Order: sequence, then C-alpha cells, then structure tokens
Amino acid sequence: MRYQFKFRPYQRKFLRSLTTNHGKWDIREGIILRLTDESGKLGWGEIAPISWFGSETLEKALDFCRQLPKEITDEIIFSIPDELPACQFGFESAWEWRSGGAGEQGSRGAEEKNLNLSSALHSLPYSGLLPSGEAALNQWEKLWQQGYRTFKWKIAVDAIADELEIFESLIHTLPASTKLRLDANGGLSYEEANLWLRTCDNLKANAEVPIEIEFIEQPLPVEQFQQMLELSMSYETAIALDESVATLGQLAGCYQQGWRGIFVIKPGIVGSPSRLRKFCHQYEVDTVFSSVFETAIARLAALKLAAELSRNNRAIGFGIDHFFEQEDTWLQSLCNSL
Ligand code: MG
Repeated sequence: MRYQFKFRPYQRKFLRSLTTNHGKWDIREGIILRLTDESGKLGWGEIAPISWFGSETLEKALDFCRQLPKEITDEIIFSIPDELPACQFGFESAWEWRSGGAGEQGSRGAEEKNLNLSSALHSLPYSGLLPSGEAALNQWEKLWQQGYRTFKWKIAVDAIADELEIFESLIHTLPASTKLRLDANGGLSYEEANLWLRTCDNLKANAEVPIEIEFIEQPLPVEQFQQMLELSMSYETAIALDESVATLGQLAGCYQQGWRGIFVIKPGIVGSPSRLRKFCHQYEVDTVFSSVFETAIARLAALKLAAELSRNNRAIGFGIDHFFEQEDTWLQSLCNSL
C-alpha cells in the first residue's frame, strides 16, 4: 500500500507555564501528520516529542518528515529507527487510524473493536495532577468535583521536612478511598526515598488513614536503577518507574534486569505501538499510561492503547484539560490546512 503523506508543525502555549525539574515549559511544539491511502481513507497522527525525557528532539522529527517522499509505504512506516520513538508512534498511529482498528484484520472486527473501545475509554479512571507544595491542599477539591478519585502530587520539589508536613495534612484531608500517587521525578536521595517509603508503609498499617498511597513514582535518578530495584523489594509500598522507561528499549531493559514493579508508559514517546502491544502482552506488565501534553490526535491513539493494555484498574494520567485552552478550533483549522 502507498500513502500520500503531509505534515505540519504546531505550537501551543500552556495556560500556566509548567515547572519540571528541567526548568520551565511554556510552549508545546509538535507535528500533525496525515496519510491518505489509495482508496482515499485518511489517517491522522501526531509527533509530540519530549527530548529531555528521552525522545528525539522536534528538530530531528522535522528533519525526518522533510526527507520523506510525498508518497510513503508500509515498509517506511514500520522501519522508522528506534532513535525516533515519537515518530514511530505518530506514523504508526496514523496508519492504524486509517485502517480503523488496532491492527485487527477485517473491517467488521475493526468496527466492533472501536465500539468496545469507546465504552472502555469512558469507563477508564483518570488521575488528576495536584499542584506541588501547599497549593495541593486547596486544589484537590476542584478536581474531586470534576470526578477525579486518583491524584498525583509532585514531591522532591521542596525540603523533605516541609513536604512530609504537607503530606500529613493532605492524607487527613482527602476523602476516604482516594488514591494518591507521589511523583519524585528522580529527585530524592537514597535516604529520602527510604524515609518516604517507610512513611507510606506506616500509613498502610494505620487504619485511621482511609486513603491509599498507590505508589511512589521514580524516587531516584535513572542511573540508580539497582537501588530502586532493591527498594522495591524492601517495602510494601509500590514503586513505579517513569523517567527510567521513556522508550521501549529502556522498558525491555528494566524488565530484563528484574523490574516487576509498575511501569509508567507515555505512548507518545515510547515508540512503536505494535511493538508496545507485543511487549505488554508477552510479559503481562503492570502499567500506568500517561500523557505527554499532546493534542486530541495523539491522545486518542494513546487512550486506545491504554484501554487495551491497562491492568489492575490503574487510573491513567491524562487529566490535562486544565493545562490548555479549548483546542477544537485551532486543531480543526490546522488539520483543514493540510
Ligand atoms: Mg512521572
């Protein structure tokens, strides 16, 4: 099969700039692409790299798109090099969009899959991101009213003593049956990670605290994998790897080195969706799916994967609507301009 290929870069501004441990992030840049097959069917895809998280840069992705011919083939789509994981995701998901299913054969099978998928998407639980620091204490209620029952709170932003104090207030404020995730973004020392894990284990044993600490995310830097592996075996509180497993290669590497905890998967940058499916099915890994602040195009493809591959009813980290203004109009006109 041959496909007409078109693409266009985009920029969108965050409502409030996002503070990460890599600095401030004001503008999300990416690429929207379109494939048209020989029968005229369209497939939309999005390349939304985050180079500081382990994907290619936007420049590299643009270079790749620019050097492609106007007509491309299945071979080109399925042989994009591993150094371009966001491109692998963008092209393959456009290919899947066009074929209407998740690699399924036959149109009826694909339609049924889509129907099930849409109800699955609505039944997926979502995780809401709380602001870091004390602001979490008066922001969770707004998210709760929007329906969120799982929250993520960033730690390793301020001094640990201050954070433990806010944490103590937070767990006594959140309604019963709330799940809370603590994301350190690799910012804790080994001693601090032990302190957090011990604190969470103690909570578990304390019947007066009716909320659940679901996991601590990426407590230590990527280089300290062995220490995280050891911590995951020493405490009851689960640990999720995030920065350590940005791409499929890293995912497989951590699994091979013995990681049986949780994997945070960002479909937008992890690489090829078909290979991700194979990996998740083969090893039955415990996954949490998460956003890379993509537009509705990549989000749809990512949520499809989440609906197919999530286990243990874990909430997905796509509660991002409050980060951007309404996107429908500009995305529609950008797609129309292709
Ligand atoms: Mg994280």
